[in-house]
Amino acid sequence: MDFGFDDEQEAFRAELRRWAEKVLAPHYQSDDAAAVFRPQLAADMASMGLTGLRIPEEHGGQGASAVVAGIAAEEVGRADFNAGYLIINTALISDIIVRHATAEQQADWLPRIASGETVPCICITEPDHGTDAAALELKAVPDGDGWRLHGEKTSITLGMAADRAVVLARTGGPGARGVSAFWVDLTDPAVSRTKFDDLGSRAIGRASVRFDGVPVTRAELIGAEGGGFVSVMQGFDYSRAIIGLLCLGAAQASLAEALQWARDREAFGQPIGKFQGVSFPLAESATYLRGARHVCYEALWLKDHDREHSTEAAMAKFWAPKLATEVIHQCLLTLGHVGYSAEHAVGQRLRDVIGLEIGDGTAQVSKLVIARGLLGRAHAP
Ligand SMILES: Cc1cc2nc3c(=O)[nH]c(=O)nc-3n(C[C@H](O)[C@H](O)[C@H](O)COP(=O)(O)OP(=O)(O)OC[C@H]3O[C@@H](n4cnc5c(N)ncnc54)[C@H](O)[C@@H]3O)c2cc1C
Repeated sequence: MDFGFDDEQEAFRAELRRWAEKVLAPHYQSDDAAAVFRPQLAADMASMGLTGLRIPEEHGGQGASAVVAGIAAEEVGRADFNAGYLIINTALISDIIVRHATAEQQADWLPRIASGETVPCICITEPDHGTDAAALELKAVPDGDGWRLHGEKTSITLGMAADRAVVLARTGGPGARGVSAFWVDLTDPAVSRTKFDDLGSRAIGRASVRFDGVPVTRAELIGAEGGGFVSVMQGFDYSRAIIGLLCLGAAQASLAEALQWARDREAFGQPIGKFQGVSFPLAESATYLRGARHVCYEALWLKDHDREHSTEAAMAKFWAPKLATEVIHQCLLTLGHVGYSAEHAVGQRLRDVIGLEIGDGTAQVSKLVIARGLLGRAHAP
């Protein structure tokens, strides 16, 4: 058994921490205040290989393992939680393309994602269908040799900024088997977008995206017609552990600040860390964070070893964002009135991580997956 990273992984982690602190962290709060996606961010992330982590080297990517993608999310999450959405989107979408797109499609699409030229998003959720995604209604209507897309997707991360999307659309009858996946050009004039005014992660431009007869060709169909739902949902397994680490990174940064504050801040003539009421919640936070971090990396390690990891990824998705929210809240309280000021990043981290208690599937859905893994489908909800 080995709980450490190997030398190469450790060097990557250390380099990324230095880089993220220097390049990403200074923009974390100003991007939130501006509430727009900063295009330079994609270029910066690409310069460190972070938009091509899961893309094979022959297509301009890093060919990195799932564990390394997790390390990237954790380190970026410490400095700029919202930059981490680029890792999630590009890793998830590249994996879908690598597993299901043709060689020609991969050669055309993947290098642009790796270079940061294409900012991709994934369009599943609709105004009337979130958790019950297999019931989605956006229609792909046959048109010549291709289709035209009609309908609305909502709650789309990077929806305002993205120029390409994996869109799930109904090409056949009801249920998951009637759904196909397309690689859609969002710069088409038949696409329109409306931005959400969000509690947190304001820099990622979550949006509703309308498709009013957007043309898609057969060359933009990903995988088999009717196979889109399964191929896209399979990718979510692994991205859920990456999301967990992104949240834990933000929590670890907050805990480090709270620990330092507990050493420096004095009350009643001594450092506040001397009071068990201050130090014990921090000790508990550190313990829980370590446990959740192990679950996340275990899921990614299993993925890298081609082993079943749905249960572990669901554990990571349900636990890590919830725990991060609780730990960051505790850290904010430890900082006292200073933590409550918008000048401090801790309040923004709290607003930001809550989004991923919902995004990519809620805790209830994750628990359904865990229960099925434990009990077997015949005995689970
Ligand atoms: C920050 C953020 C980013 C997002 N990014 C994207 C994106 O890029 N692309 C995209 O397509 N979507 C995205 N989403 C949407 C997200 O995937 C959905 O919000 C999520 O799947 C839940 O759907 P819903 O919000 O419609 O809730 P609903 O499905 O309406 O559920 C409402 C509540 O009921 C519960 N519930 C529903 N069904 C069950 C059940 N069977 N058992 C128990 N409880 C249940 C849910 O857990 C939830 O608490 C994002 C959301 C957020 C907040």
